[in-house]
This record gives sequence, structure tokens and C-alpha cells, in this order.
Amino acid sequence: MSQPCKGKATRRKLLRGVISAAATVVAAEVGTVLKGVTTERRASAEERFSTDNEVLRMQQDLERALRKPVEQRQWVMVIDTRKCIGCNACVVACIAENRLPPGVSYRTVPEVEVGEYPAVRRVFMPTNCQQCDNPPCMKAAPPGAISKRPDGIVVVDYTKFRTRKAFEAAAKACPYTALYFDDGKYWTQGTPRLQAYETRPHVEYGQRWTRMEGQLPIGAGRKCHFCLQRLEVGMLPACVTTCIGRAMYFGDISDKRSLVADLLRRNPHMQVNANLGTRPRVYYIAEDVKKNCQVCHG
Ligand code: SF4
Ligand code: SF4
Repeated sequence: MSQPCKGKATRRKLLRGVISAAATVVAAEVGTVLKGVTTERRASAEERFSTDNEVLRMQQDLERALRKPVEQRQWVMVIDTRKCIGCNACVVACIAENRLPPGVSYRTVPEVEVGEYPAVRRVFMPTNCQQCDNPPCMKAAPPGAISKRPDGIVVVDYTKFRTRKAFEAAAKACPYTALYFDDGKYWTQGTPRLQAYETRPHVEYGQRWTRMEGQLPIGAGRKCHFCLQRLEVGMLPACVTTCIGRAMYFGDISDKRSLVADLLRRNPHMQVNANLGTRPRVYYIAEDVKKNCQVCHG
């Protein structure tokens, strides 16, 4: 029987060792590359989420805020007047969401003049209830008709805010013209029949309402509530998700990671009529902010 060649056996062993080592290196390299690809993919997804898509980021902020006790969420709205194009899409969304009749508008988009001659220009300034931390409307309204929630939203109790006299006292106290009286009009009034969208039930303040004659909220004072009914089910306010110019932002100011906190850190901003001590929760980002606002930050 011939003996195996010692040299050949050693070469084979060496070759096996080299192949095995090479395989290990290749596997490690592949692992590193794959790991790199995964990390890169994850990083870019996170980046997309946190920077490119502001609505998704606000949605994430909202979900994070809703996991906290209500008193630890501090809702604010930030409006970037540089981006508003005055299209009124937010107004229409608000009307549809809250079944608002003619003459009731939780939200308006006035055009205002800013600057000094000759550098004068006009900007759109969307506005709604400022959810003041010191709300004069609350003091002027009947007890319990208007109240402040721990998360900052100023809410109305339709059952207590229902005479024109009570409404007029609160409306007069509000420096932002944010209160409206629902006197029972319909958009399709005078046509052969009211369209279903006017009387379809809707939710506000955790209750279903049907805007039919003799039923609330007809005959009550009404105002913006940051779409509380949507927040409670994890949705951003209708004006924010509808905004075509991406001028509307919403979130929890007590959360330093939130987009609203980030925007206010990075941009000069103002609050309207804040010199009156109302402590509004709506912030405006605007060019020339220092020249034109009554109370500026940044
Ligand atoms: S904006 Fe007017 S209605 Fe809204 S909380 Fe302030 S005072 Fe009240
Ligand atoms: S939808 Fe946006 S861009 Fe259009 S008016 Fe409203 S805030 Fe301005």
C-alpha cells in the first residue's frame, strides 16, 4: 500500500486553512457591509421621518405626547407666515370637520400689511382661537361656560354658553375675534332641501352633535379647540394636515424633540397681542418680526 505523500497532505491542509480563513474574512466583510447597509438604510429612514416629512414628524410627536398624562402635554400651534399662500384650504377643512354654518368661522386668513414705506408688503396671517393661558373670554362668560384644560386648550360647554347675551360678553372680552355665535343658518338654506353634509352628526368635546333646528350647537357660542376630537384619536388638527403651503404646525411644546419646539428654537417668532397678558398659544414665524410685532422672540 502506498503511503500518502506527506508534502501533498500538508499542502491540502494549508489550502483548506487558507480557504476557511478566506471564507471567514469574506463572511465578516459581507456581514460588515450588510450591517453598514442596514444601518445606512435605518439612518436614512429616520432622517426622512424627522426632517423631510414634517407631517409624519408631527404625527410622531403627537403620538409621543398622547402617551403622557394630559397635564404634561402642552399643545401649541406655530404658523409660518412666510409659507402661507392664502389659499383658505385650512378654512374649508375646518368648516367640514366641525360642521360650521355661514357666519361661524373657527379660522380666518386675513391679509395684513407689514413693514414701513417704501419696504411695505402684504402677508397672509392665518388666525384662530389662541387658546390663551390667561383667557379674558373665560372670565366674561357664565361660570363653567368656557374653561381651560390642563393641556392648554380652552373649551366651551355648549350647554352653558347658549344665550346671545353670554356670548356677546365673552366675544367682547376676546382680543382676537375668535368667538362666533351659531344662529342656525345653513349653506344650502333656501334650496329645495338641506344637503346631508350640513346635518350629518359630528363630534366636538367628546360628544356627537346634529346641527338641526332646536339642537345644540345651534344657539351656542363656538370657537376653535385645536380639533380636540381629532387629537383624542391620534390625529392632527384638520387645518394642519390640509395646509397646502406647509405653513401650519402643531405639537407639544413641553417636548424638546417636537417639531414645534425645534421651529421656535430656530426661528424668530411673535405672539399677537401678547402685551395684553393673554399668553396666547399660537406663535407666528415671520420675516421682519422684530420690526412689526408687538411681542417678539428670537
Ligand atoms: S383667543 Fe379669545 S376665545 Fe380664544 S382663549 Fe383667547 S380670549 Fe378666549
Ligand atoms: S391652508 Fe395653509 S397656505 Fe392655505 S391659507 Fe391655510 S395656512 Fe395658508
